[in-house]
Amino acid sequence: MRSYNLIAPAKINLYLEIISDRPDGYHELAMILQSIELADKINVQSLSTDRIRVNCNHPQVPTDKSNLAYRAAALMAAKFPEALAQYGGVEITINKQIPVAAGLAGGSTNAAAVLIGIDLLWKLGLTKPELEELGATLGSDIPFCVAGGTVIATGRGEKLSPLPSLDHIYIVLAKYRSLEVSTAWAYKTYRQEFGNTYLKDTENLAARAAAVHSEVIVKAILNKDTREIAQKLHNDLERVVLAAYPQVLQLRELFATQPGVLGTMMSGSGPTVFALVESEAQAQAVKLQMRAAIPDEDLELFVTRTITHGIQVASSI
Ligand code: ATP
Repeated sequence: MRSYNLIAPAKINLYLEIISDRPDGYHELAMILQSIELADKINVQSLSTDRIRVNCNHPQVPTDKSNLAYRAAALMAAKFPEALAQYGGVEITINKQIPVAAGLAGGSTNAAAVLIGIDLLWKLGLTKPELEELGATLGSDIPFCVAGGTVIATGRGEKLSPLPSLDHIYIVLAKYRSLEVSTAWAYKTYRQEFGNTYLKDTENLAARAAAVHSEVIVKAILNKDTREIAQKLHNDLERVVLAAYPQVLQLRELFATQPGVLGTMMSGSGPTVFALVESEAQAQAVKLQMRAAIPDEDLELFVTRTITHGIQVASSI
């Protein structure tokens, strides 16, 4: 029975701009996505039957067919029935460290790890672009989770152009454990409130997305200028989420006043807020300051850092 242990990193959005809506119900986006060290551990193991089984240590994560890791395995089984018959089904065990429904792509990175794990278990030899393409059929963030690093993502998030990697920028993450923000709600509300500002502008969307608005932060990334990157963080969804969730606004404002914080922003559709900090020591100090300001045990705080890769194979048996 073969088995692979994989590391599945979370992501943050350094930049998220909503360019327009699309006929398929998604939005045309311009994002800069960044892998971070905070990661789930995923084990994929062959089964002697053709079943797919999911185990997870986190009570909020479903282990049935709605789990994105399950759906990734089901996709592989449907695409490669001969490999399923030859090598058997898979048991997936998720050790969740990434907060759930947090805007950190926890489910997407699990799905990406399962695609890569099954490719190895079934000796398929798929290329990264092939795995990214498969992932895109399950969720917009999955291609990025396969690729990892620092990337400009356009389309609905699935078209990737790599940027030079940003390594070792320290980050503090803050999230209220019991607070969840629905991604669908955030985009729908944005569209209702601000859609009239972009709906008619359908010209040359992808080019505009990649070139115009994100230009300043892209330049800062090319120059590896952490201070400038931190100043140019942007997320359109803050306009709706901060207005509706005072706790997220509070974290955002508190981070901004901490000594050592270079810049702060909500990740994805929230509710996680992150701060870029110059050094590990400063990040630990910011974490302590945040804890002292909000002693509520519901608040989760993490010190992590940017990394240059996506899914990694840690070991195999
Ligand atoms: P994104 O940043 O891609 O929008 P997210 O970090 O906001 O994602 P997830 O942690 O992926 O959100 O969870 C969203 C929902 O998906 C949760 O409510 C959870 O029940 C469900 N879910 C399904 N599979 C998983 C999984 N493997 N890990 C976490 N959540 C999962």
